[in-house]
Amino acid sequence: MKALHFHDQLRYTPDFPAPENRSDEIIIQIASAGICNTDIEITRGYVPGFNGIPGHEFYGYVASVPDASYDCLIGKRVTAEINCGCGKCSFCKADLERHCPDRTVIGIVNRNGAFAEYISVPLPTLVPLPDTIPDNSALFIEPLAAALEIQEQMAILPDHRVLLIGDGKLAQCVALTLKPTGCSLQVAGRHKWKTALLQQQGISTTLDQTSLPDHAFDIVIEASGSSAAFGEALTKVRPRGAIVLKSTYAKGFSFNPAPVVVNEITILGSRCGRFSSAIGFLENHRPDLSCLISKRFPLTDGIMAFETAQRKDTMKVVIDCIPER
Ligand SMILES: [Zn+2]
Ligand SMILES: [Zn+2]
Repeated sequence: MKALHFHDQLRYTPDFPAPENRSDEIIIQIASAGICNTDIEITRGYVPGFNGIPGHEFYGYVASVPDASYDCLIGKRVTAEINCGCGKCSFCKADLERHCPDRTVIGIVNRNGAFAEYISVPLPTLVPLPDTIPDNSALFIEPLAAALEIQEQMAILPDHRVLLIGDGKLAQCVALTLKPTGCSLQVAGRHKWKTALLQQQGISTTLDQTSLPDHAFDIVIEASGSSAAFGEALTKVRPRGAIVLKSTYAKGFSFNPAPVVVNEITILGSRCGRFSSAIGFLENHRPDLSCLISKRFPLTDGIMAFETAQRKDTMKVVIDCIPER
């Protein structure tokens, strides 16, 4: 099958072995898959040990099932939870596969991803897509789930003053999911055209973070990926407030913990979330996410798609793995 394959570098190959039928997995024909920053970090070698097909933000159609009892799924439009747990440990039993020590992660840890014609996923990870969710919105379920994870970890209330640092792909999803909370939301971005997308959604933005008052925000969410932003978050959060870290910081950084201790700041790490929350959000709020898609490429031009995704003037770049149905 056609696929983008990473081994030391990303390559397009027309003859990658297609996944074989297994008794515990389902094979999906990929329709489209979005490129996220994690995929770009994989191609730069920042995700240790990953060799294989990247890609974890996708939807497609069920192509093959383990046996006749699943035949009703054939042809259904679906996506899949990216964390595939062992199903036996205490995390998996608590519906927290994303913390299973033995998990594989689609397109990130020991499991092939979605920049290909077909993908095989464990049965429990399969997520059917309601007809009310348009194709372009389905591509954002994984980042929306990650954005909504913040609200699973902490309550965000209408009287909260929230500063979101970042205006990229993940930050846009975080901003959209915060809007319905009714909190007083301010986004500090770096790019005029990206903050303009947020303004179109009625969200208040600034390009000059220094103009915002210091120690004034109950919650500061860092989703820019810049290590310098952590220091900025410490300056903006109020005493006894919280800083939420959404970036994984490929390179790490050092910081002085004294202000965290003195001001009793809560630091909350936040990563993947539940797809069911993202689907509920899309059904209830029906945001138009097409404006976040900058460009689309066929799978055969996947390398060009990755080059484009790294340009400063693009937001989400999508790879179409089968022609329009
Ligand atoms: Zn992603
Ligand atoms: Zn487990």
